[in-house]
Amino acid sequence: AIQIADMNKWFGTFHVLRDIDLTVYRGERIVICGPSGSGKSTLIRCINRLEEHQAGQIVVDGTELNSDLKNVDKVRSEVGMVFQHFNLFPHLTVLENCTLAPIWVRKVPRKEAVERAMHFLEKVKIPEQADKYPGQLSGGQQQRVAIARSLCMMPRIMLFDEPTSALDPEMIKEVLDTMIELAEEGMTMICVTHEMGFAQAVANRVIFMADGQIVEQNEPKEFFNNPKSERTKQFLSQII
Ligand code: ATP
Ligand code: MG
Repeated sequence: AIQIADMNKWFGTFHVLRDIDLTVYRGERIVICGPSGSGKSTLIRCINRLEEHQAGQIVVDGTELNSDLKNVDKVRSEVGMVFQHFNLFPHLTVLENCTLAPIWVRKVPRKEAVERAMHFLEKVKIPEQADKYPGQLSGGQQQRVAIARSLCMMPRIMLFDEPTSALDPEMIKEVLDTMIELAEEGMTMICVTHEMGFAQAVANRVIFMADGQIVEQNEPKEFFNNPKSERTKQFLSQII
């Protein structure tokens, strides 16, 4: 589980995250939505310490994120992250993108790393692209490589930061389908997304953030049909 208690973060004097309390249990599928600049990316980046918080606690599967680098490494080894802009290594093939970290960071034997990579490339339905370079793939294919690459590190938790918002409409579905499949297999997931159809179908909890705070959270049906706060109503009226 992820336990965030009374967490606050500043960028200089700017108070970007305020009193965040959030527990995510194993197997949960959380969607985070909210206006631009509300702190969604910063919050999930804190969960694998791409950003540092200044007050409160973040504990991931029993390990507290603090200045102890051993703890940071341990948490990062359990948490995969997929970004809006796929962040693939352009000079490496798809297969090499997927085997690099397992071989060099995890010391997985090359043969096993290749087998593992092919397994996950099959799972995201692009094994035939293994020897191409990222620049030779469509956006949707690149994002599926990014997901496969992350899965090759065998994470227990996956964080997604607007994985489909840089994609053309016809490629969004193929990435969402991959995420749905992961969810069905029981992966713990936190997804920042404005894909409300995905939220309704997959999330067991939707969280609305504004101005660095969690304003409201609920199971999707209640969240969309019966939002409580004015801020949530206003947001939903603009995006749906
Ligand atoms: P979007 O929907 O546009 O992605 P977001 O909810 O993900 O927005 P964040 O990226 O978390 O928002 O940013 C929250 C606030 O923190 C914004 O006002 C942003 O300008 C600010 N911010 C983000 N990163 C930094 C940084 N490294 N230094 C200073 N301010 C930052
Ligand atoms: Mg963001």
